[in-house]
Amino acid sequence: MYHSVGDCSDDPHRVTVTPDRLDQQLGWLWRRGLRGVSMAELLAARAGGWGRDLVGLTFDDGYADFVEHALPVLRRWECGATLFVLPGRLGGDNAWDRPGPRKPLLTADGIRHAAAEGVEIGSHGLTHIDLTQADDTLLRAEAAGSRAVLRELTGTEVAGFCYPYGTVDRRVADAVRQAGYGYACAVDPGPLTGPYALPRVHVGQRDNAARLWLKTGLHRLRRRPAGDACREDVR
Ligand SMILES: [Zn+2]
Repeated sequence: MYHSVGDCSDDPHRVTVTPDRLDQQLGWLWRRGLRGVSMAELLAARAGGWGRDLVGLTFDDGYADFVEHALPVLRRWECGATLFVLPGRLGGDNAWDRPGPRKPLLTADGIRHAAAEGVEIGSHGLTHIDLTQADDTLLRAEAAGSRAVLRELTGTEVAGFCYPYGTVDRRVADAVRQAGYGYACAVDPGPLTGPYALPRVHVGQRDNAARLWLKTGLHRLRRRPAGDACREDVR
């Protein structure tokens, strides 16, 4: 689980890795015979009973720096990725992260550019709110509404959703499934773990080779498969 890729000298929320660090991390995967792919590719492979050498790479919020800094590194290591964007804040910024530096978000053109480069575009809701606190009408707008906007924007169906702040409960997961998504990413969803609450590991600037190795092992231990292929270690 990545967010922003760029200068991380002022990064109180720890959402940024430098392009050099991302390069080292993807190189670390490559040396272990692993390859980063989009969530759609990962889930399709695992559903088919293969893909143990694949790692889902996700980038939340849709920062403008994705195109400038992340895409060239992903290309260099021949990795795919899923970018979870906020169609209610096109060309805006991370106003929900206060205090902290303002980080611009991709415009519609920027999202289309990423999609044209083979990046899977998923929804992070419309405006980045805690969906467990939203009433049913707002929840529907954030889940189904954002999917409709992104379908229009990209010209393709949108399979993936990602819960803002990683917060999800049964009602929110049901709303996302009913909106037509095929899967949804959380962070640490506990008993909700499944295709609509996939666990992820935060990867940050401090994650060098030793820490990545530890995180890989700990992730498997903390999230034991519960019988369903989709629940298995999405690393
Ligand atoms: Zn977010």
